Amino acid sequence: MQLKKFGGYQTTLAREIRFDGVGVHAGKPASLLLRPASADRGIVFRRTDETGREVEIPARFDYVVATDLCTVLGVDGLSVATVEHLMAALLALGVDNVDIEVEGPEVPILDGCSVTFVDGIQEAGLTVLASPRKVLRILKTVRVEQGDAFAELSPFEGCRYDVTIDFTDPVIGRQSYVFDLSAHGFRTELARARTFGFMSDVEKLWKIGFALGSSLENSVAVGEGRVMNPEGLRFPDEFARHKTLDAVGDLALAGAPFVGRYRSYKGGHRMNVAVLKALFADHAAYEFVSKSAVRREAGSAVMVAGSGLAAAPDI
Ligand SMILES: [Zn+2]
Repeated sequence: MQLKKFGGYQTTLAREIRFDGVGVHAGKPASLLLRPASADRGIVFRRTDETGREVEIPARFDYVVATDLCTVLGVDGLSVATVEHLMAALLALGVDNVDIEVEGPEVPILDGCSVTFVDGIQEAGLTVLASPRKVLRILKTVRVEQGDAFAELSPFEGCRYDVTIDFTDPVIGRQSYVFDLSAHGFRTELARARTFGFMSDVEKLWKIGFALGSSLENSVAVGEGRVMNPEGLRFPDEFARHKTLDAVGDLALAGAPFVGRYRSYKGGHRMNVAVLKALFADHAAYEFVSKSAVRREAGSAVMVAGSGLAAAPDI
């Protein structure tokens, strides 16, 4: 029974973790402090402004305030940008509850993917909490479309991401990637796939004050009919893998791991958030299942703390 692998108990980090880097958009220093949190807290960002005003920003789709270049969460005019690569790592490694203090308006871009977050979380380890984990089960297909682009969630026994991108630039072209969620698979197949962009777009963005922190250190740059990074690609289909990584991070804003299949064609942050909104707007399309229901469905199997965490089998 596929649900069993999502079963078990909630987790948090075993200790604090700090990440320092720069924000990709403002180009300014950006730091995070991840702190262990209690059960049912979820992932919560905390920002403080210059006047000392402090807000808590839950990492949920209904707190998304922008999706133009990255996914931005906000409350009362304070926001935190580029949450998706961190959210993907937390979801894939099975971290349910964390308080995240953010210095500045962005999550550090680091090297443009999730690998530094994965390494940090693995090094810290997880603590299993006494409360059952909830999972989100997709009960019927929900789809959003824009032109020929779409994003869709549908029932499926497992957690599958099926992503197709289709760029006119032949350096990228059409690529598909299918990923069945597991901590191991995320680490080995997705976490190192970097964000990417076209040099022509980056130059435009620089002029209007965006992407100021982006460089060949944290992005794959496409221009002049080639990949401009001297080291080349980390995977032949690194572009599709990164879009899949983004989908893992964006859909983590459901607030729980899901049981179902996500599919997208020419998707991105905007459509990922839109499909979550469409899902939660239709109460017949989903249900949250807790450990007791998972246990019933799994037959006689009783989850021992930690043993059912698909998510962090070797942390
Ligand atoms: Zn990304």
